[in-house]
Amino acid sequence: MDDRKFRTAMGKFATGVTVIATEVEGDIHGMTANAFMSVSLDPKLVVISIGEKAKILNKIKESKIFTVNILAAEQQELSMIFAGQLKEHKEVIFDRLDGKPVLAGAVAQIACEVSAEHVEGEHTLFIGKVTDIHLEDAEPLLFYSGKYRSLTEEKPVTI
Ligand code: FAD
Repeated sequence: MDDRKFRTAMGKFATGVTVIATEVEGDIHGMTANAFMSVSLDPKLVVISIGEKAKILNKIKESKIFTVNILAAEQQELSMIFAGQLKEHKEVIFDRLDGKPVLAGAVAQIACEVSAEHVEGEHTLFIGKVTDIHLEDAEPLLFYSGKYRSLTEEKPVTI
């Protein structure tokens, strides 16, 4: 099986888009990620998967904290900023939740402490113990087959 087939197949799993953020010595670093999943309700745990080449990897290992910011439909530019898809550098202002850096306007801000990390292949899975959550009533940004999408109201077809 070639890499492209694997990537194409994985891209068929429609997801939301998050920005993972962490902070080391007052320096905030963000990265766009869609490898995010809820793990457990009691205790409340989530998982993220970070590639070995990502600069944020060592920062999370050091800080032992991260936030997951589930982006709203109108925040595609933020996704592109934190995926390194925009040429020009844009200043991003972060809010705080439980003392951790979060993005205003995100559908959900989820503050976490790292409770475990597992290296698998070229990625590290971080299990996060959720310490606080903030929710906004907004439509989410979606990602499917390598493209950004948004939820559209499908009216039932009446024949
Ligand atoms: P950098 O390359 O240092 O940062 C990425 C960009 O964010 C840079 O342009 C940087 O200037 C900007 N940035 C960082 N902090 C700030 C700040 N405080 N203020 C302003 N700008 C800032 N990779 C994974 O490992 N796991 C995933 O689950 C994943 N999912 C993805 C989903 C989507 C939809 C996309 C588009 C990409 C995904 N990626 C994922 C790839 C990942 O986002 C990129 O490889 C990313 O560029 C790697 O980030 P980095 O930590 O090396 O940081």
